[in-house]
Amino acid sequence: MNERDSEIMAQSLSGYGYIEGMEMNEADLVILNTCSIRAKAEQKVLSLLGYLRKTKLKRPAMKICVAGCVAQQEGNRLLDRMPHIDLVIGTQNIYNIGPLLLRAETDGSRVVTELRDDYAIPKFLPALSPMAADRAESACAAPSIQFSKFVTIMQGCNNYCTYCVVPYTRGREISRNVDDIIEEVNILVKAGVKEITLLGQNVNSYGKANAVTADRRPYNFSDLLREVSSVEGLARLRFTTSNPKDLTDALMKSFRDVKNLCPQFHLPVQSGSDRILKSMNRKYTAAQYLEKVEKLREYMPGIALTTDIIVGFPGESDEDFQDTMNLLEEVRFHGSFSFKYSDRPGTQASKLAEKVDERVKMERLAVFQQRQDEISLLRNREYVGHGQSVMLEECSESGGKGRTGTNHIVHFSECRGHVAGDIVRMKIVHAGQHSLRGEIEKTDEV
Ligand code: SAH
Ligand code: SF4
Repeated sequence: MNERDSEIMAQSLSGYGYIEGMEMNEADLVILNTCSIRAKAEQKVLSLLGYLRKTKLKRPAMKICVAGCVAQQEGNRLLDRMPHIDLVIGTQNIYNIGPLLLRAETDGSRVVTELRDDYAIPKFLPALSPMAADRAESACAAPSIQFSKFVTIMQGCNNYCTYCVVPYTRGREISRNVDDIIEEVNILVKAGVKEITLLGQNVNSYGKANAVTADRRPYNFSDLLREVSSVEGLARLRFTTSNPKDLTDALMKSFRDVKNLCPQFHLPVQSGSDRILKSMNRKYTAAQYLEKVEKLREYMPGIALTTDIIVGFPGESDEDFQDTMNLLEEVRFHGSFSFKYSDRPGTQASKLAEKVDERVKMERLAVFQQRQDEISLLRNREYVGHGQSVMLEECSESGGKGRTGTNHIVHFSECRGHVAGDIVRMKIVHAGQHSLRGEIEKTDEV
């Protein structure tokens, strides 16, 4: 989500004479696009801002802008603590970063963090030059072309999971207009993009909070998936993230029916304990989650499932944690992102008394991650000896890497005349914990 927001700001600023660069110490403008989902992410921003204070003493003309969730959450407090910041810009204001920077210079408005309940995601289409399409064809010479892109379909969240800061930092849930989404996908695909990932905090509730079609007819995420999938030339489609409580049968069936939808699904469960799930306000039980897993596997055998887990949520007992381990054994996720619970300002969980000791959280995290790693390795070994469709991401004489439909990274040592962006058939010859190794089988696209 932040990656796509960064692209939007870069594109918006290109109209104001800025060119995106990689070297922070030479830049005229540094933007920190921040995340505050856990305390650690926020601390990183503060220490980088401390470093930039010294840089700015040497180069006072350099401008510093803080965007994203920390900016939204801290607003004026950030500027009070760090007066060397030129602009603090909230999550709903990024499309306007160019004019807001100019305004900060003229009238000194350095904090813009308005969050509106009636916000509409602006019509903002990627400005890809026709050159991008040419470059796509000679990808080896221009490896910077990305064949896989994110498209935002929603902003904000109305779910109020008790640990989560997103509803406060990103505001109310808003779905983007269908026509804008389809237009954006068309532009990207015409420019050579082969894979699109639709983005939102809870894509399953797309179209619920506001009308997304011109004639205001009912339209949901399954409808959108089908419409995007039929954009001519789109080889691969993915989406993230989904809250299991809103996962409908129609959406699960998309894995069976939508041919270019990749056989991969990130379905965050957070905990295997019903008591903790209730306290998290997730609105499903472990049994309901498992039922959906079973259905998904029925509709798309071989689907690769990944999840998010929080350990040490307030009040989590050894038994609750054991329930999470049991769920891991039952589902045998292909992979997962697991986190120690972190108190976030303003959330309901931060007010709960029974905090879990930091050492216990660390132990539980280590136990979970070790078992997940073992399972991931066993899962990955299931691919050895079998064929996979792989989109090449990097490709040179000495080999490269690509990604399977199941979202596994595959390394290979011979590109056999192929270039980045090609989708090829590979035989998997080796499995590691976090990646696979393969050999390209045939030259024609699959
Ligand atoms: N909208 C997505 C999640 C976005 S946040 C969803 O509902 O699945 C990504 C992940 O960060 C969450 O799934 C959760 O596992 C983790 N997370 C969020 N808040 C957290 C907190 N306070 N402490 C620890 N992990 C947290
Ligand atoms: Fe946060 Fe829950 Fe919304 Fe995900 S669904 S963004 S975890 S509140």
